[in-house]
Amino acid sequence: MTSTRIEWTEATWNPTVGCTKVTAGCKNCYAETMARRLQAMGVKGYGNGFDFTVLPNRFQQPLAVKKPTKFFVNSMSDLFHEKMLFENIDKIFETIKATPQHYYQILTKREKKLKRYFEKRAVPANVWLGVTVENESVKNRIDVLKTIDATIRFLSIEPLLEDMGELDLSGIHWVIVGGESGPNARPMNSYWPQNIQRQCKEQNAAFFFKQWGTWGEDGKKRSKHANGSLLSGREWKEEPNIVKQVGAINYV
Ligand code: SF4
Repeated sequence: MTSTRIEWTEATWNPTVGCTKVTAGCKNCYAETMARRLQAMGVKGYGNGFDFTVLPNRFQQPLAVKKPTKFFVNSMSDLFHEKMLFENIDKIFETIKATPQHYYQILTKREKKLKRYFEKRAVPANVWLGVTVENESVKNRIDVLKTIDATIRFLSIEPLLEDMGELDLSGIHWVIVGGESGPNARPMNSYWPQNIQRQCKEQNAAFFFKQWGTWGEDGKKRSKHANGSLLSGREWKEEPNIVKQVGAINYV
């Protein structure tokens, strides 16, 4: 487990590492670049580079953390990867259920397996469940997510690759949007995140604008730090209202 620079979480927990590309958002996968770098450095867990690898010795790591922490599960992988056995996912959820002091943010691009897994299981109250939706062709992931009963359902629209058109955000509590970073990043038109922000406001979903990435609001290429995260002249770092969403269960 490590602390993280990912702004919308507090720590990362990677009980699996490595992955396989599935859709357009994976093209310049950050986890792939990072995994190969860590493999070259001889870091434990990355001996297989970016090949999907289950690390059972990490399944119980959060049990040792007493301080309430928001964990992003599998920043370097996808928990619902084709090769992941349900029995291993069950073991990870045993740890999640045994640590109600933590929140767990689980994000996937494998909505079919996500749905299959939760057909016969309940989502623990301390889990925030999300899908990545990078372009219009994968908007069906939102509909699948909505069929699953979870305390918080969220979308990661990153990297945002085109205008998403109309979005039905009923039942969606939180939307994270960001442009792509890295040398091969694809540009993001300023209208695209604005269109999502407007719809979040209209439909009462919290809106978090993470970054412009490599291409700025003015269409110029710079460092992602220089491009910042102002959209329409201000920052948007909203988070879901947890108390409101879970009623009697006070997680704050
Ligand atoms: S699903 Fe995520 S981790 Fe896996 S290849 Fe795609 S972007 Fe990378």
